[in-house]
Amino acid sequence: MFVSDRASAAYLGLAIGDALGSTVEFMTPREIAAKYGTHDKLIGGGWLHLKPGQVTDDTTMSLALGNAILAQGKVDALAAAQAFDAWMRAKPVDIGNTVRRNLLQFRKTGSPEAPYSDHDAGNGAAMRVLPVALATFGQDEDTVRAASRAQAHVTHHCALSDAACECLVSMVHDALRGAGKNDLLHDHAHPLAARFPAFKFRAVKPARNPSGYVADTLQAVFQSFFDTDDFQGCLVDVVNRGGDADTTGAIAGMLAGALYGMEEIPEDWLKKLDTETGSACAMQAHSLLGISSKN
Ligand code: MN
Ligand code: MN
Repeated sequence: MFVSDRASAAYLGLAIGDALGSTVEFMTPREIAAKYGTHDKLIGGGWLHLKPGQVTDDTTMSLALGNAILAQGKVDALAAAQAFDAWMRAKPVDIGNTVRRNLLQFRKTGSPEAPYSDHDAGNGAAMRVLPVALATFGQDEDTVRAASRAQAHVTHHCALSDAACECLVSMVHDALRGAGKNDLLHDHAHPLAARFPAFKFRAVKPARNPSGYVADTLQAVFQSFFDTDDFQGCLVDVVNRGGDADTTGAIAGMLAGALYGMEEIPEDWLKKLDTETGSACAMQAHSLLGISSKN
């Protein structure tokens, strides 16, 4: 499988997971089961009253970031902050509290780096790492880490968030290279949990109703990702846990897309995904990889 196929599948997977999960965001697994049995269709709705196949901030912030990276030819903190600010002005369907607070701060100070805070451990930076992962594919570790932090710190300047973002970026890189699920587990997910016990996802009860706390989010994503064997199974498993389901769906969709490739994404989900969003994701996947090979 070509790297470009995995990159497209990661970006479309992100959008599909977001669209699928948004229907059941903030619901409990019990409420989801009562209403849908198993939720596995792109039907929109949810608390945001979305159209079928419509995505939320997880995907639209990623696309805003991707456009800024493409315009600069590299990951640049100020350009990312300006892109997120413009995104916020355009009245997105949803926006996280930490994102809003630190973007308002950026408008005042002009500094693209939020002040450090251990409280800013939400999943808002981790949900939009993909454009950075694609633009830095094949680059050295220091460059990758600096790029990951530049985009993350615009809104989330926090050790746990940084660790999550860097882990996800490395997982995408290795999956693009063709690494298997076991490699991703032993080379990335386990070491992350060893460094920061908050991320332990084995020997904890099934991560149901995961919150927007980045460790809760990754626990749910890792349980679903490592305990299933295909794209569809992974996404259905994670979003039916409820809670911050659009974001667990988006992150799981990114990882599963990179691992399994386009072939595994159900035709029906691809068709239902908002058309403009789908083309933007495919275009960015291609162009961002182009940046990585130039640097
Ligand atoms: Mn969202
Ligand atoms: Mn969410």
